[in-house]
Amino acid sequence: FSGNLSHVGETIFSKMTALANKHKAVNLSQGFPDFPVDPELIERVHFYVDKGPHQYAPMAGHLAFRQELCKLSDQEFASPYQAETEICITAGATQALGTALACAIREGDEVIVFSPAYDSYFPMIELYGGRPITIKLQHPDYNVDWNQVKRLISHRTKMIIINSPHNPSGRTWKEDDYLKLQELVGDSNILILADEVYEHLVFDPKEKRSVRQFPELRKRSFVVGSLGKTVHVTGWKIGYCMAPENLMREFKKVHQYFVFSINHPLQWALADYLPNLDLNSLGKLFKEKHDWFFRNLQERTRFKPLASEGTYFMLIDYSEISQEPELAFAERLTTEFGVASIPLSPFYRDPVDNKVLRLCFAKDDQTLEQGVDALSKL
Ligand code: PMP
Ligand code: GLN
Repeated sequence: FSGNLSHVGETIFSKMTALANKHKAVNLSQGFPDFPVDPELIERVHFYVDKGPHQYAPMAGHLAFRQELCKLSDQEFASPYQAETEICITAGATQALGTALACAIREGDEVIVFSPAYDSYFPMIELYGGRPITIKLQHPDYNVDWNQVKRLISHRTKMIIINSPHNPSGRTWKEDDYLKLQELVGDSNILILADEVYEHLVFDPKEKRSVRQFPELRKRSFVVGSLGKTVHVTGWKIGYCMAPENLMREFKKVHQYFVFSINHPLQWALADYLPNLDLNSLGKLFKEKHDWFFRNLQERTRFKPLASEGTYFMLIDYSEISQEPELAFAERLTTEFGVASIPLSPFYRDPVDNKVLRLCFAKDDQTLEQGVDALSKL
């Protein structure tokens, strides 16, 4: 049988985690924390799993949870959304991305994607008949070439997908990037899909920005977030999409047939927990891990780390160690040296091989120490 995605295989995240497990390697590949979840949140989960709600959540999500997320958006980005009409709770950010694309993209529509890009964008655009138009972010800076964006925008451009803080480079967009984008789309009907799953994982609080802060962008944007990243629970698969009412109305029409609604008791637990969320400590935690990891990779290994500004990822350049292609090298690093990473090539559409791997540093100190130790053997 040949399905609508017969040209794609298993994702690199499944592949590398399976390889890490098989070889008992330190798993710095797939992005997930290996440290404990706040016991207060777990206590809330126990409470609601015991007491209920046990039946369907409202289609757009539990209202108190939506209110807390809207409050957080207002607090962090001075960008209030209406909990009743402008947010929908989704099964992780992945479902929000897929739903926004399903809602907006028709046969022949062009969608601008900056690559390296998170792996779900290209296949999901194509599933709905869209045509990805790729703009490469050049290694090692991964800056946007705005002249190229201007050249590639056409009357067929339906949407631009942006992702800041950026997976895999860890770079964050500056104010000027948003202003440039705003200038380019100002007179058009182009939509924006803003993947902001790492919105709260920014190391310098002054550099924390969102598409929501720029009025011409906000009014055309589906903004996507993930509780998996913010409260260290990637396995819960709870995310959200925020958008102005005219966009959200259409988003919810698709959402109601994809999933209808999301795990109900977890939404109650998160609604209770969010007011206690300490975003300063969250940023600080990842900054400390980033700085330790960067310094130790630099001092104790022959890999060249690239500093990140956000996310929990760091790129390392291995060009002075080996000339093997990225996937082969990442596999050998796992099987022979006991460290799993993610090669960057699967984040591109065409063959790119800069001899760069992505490591996840959302790990406890002992795991990071083991990782650096193993990498120092090369
Ligand atoms: N977008 C990006 C850029 C991501 O890194 C991830 C998680 N790896 C997602 C979307 C998906 O998030 P979720 O696990 O909530 O579906
Ligand atoms: N977002 C995570 C990463 O980039 C993993 C997502 C997944 O496994 N699909 O590593």
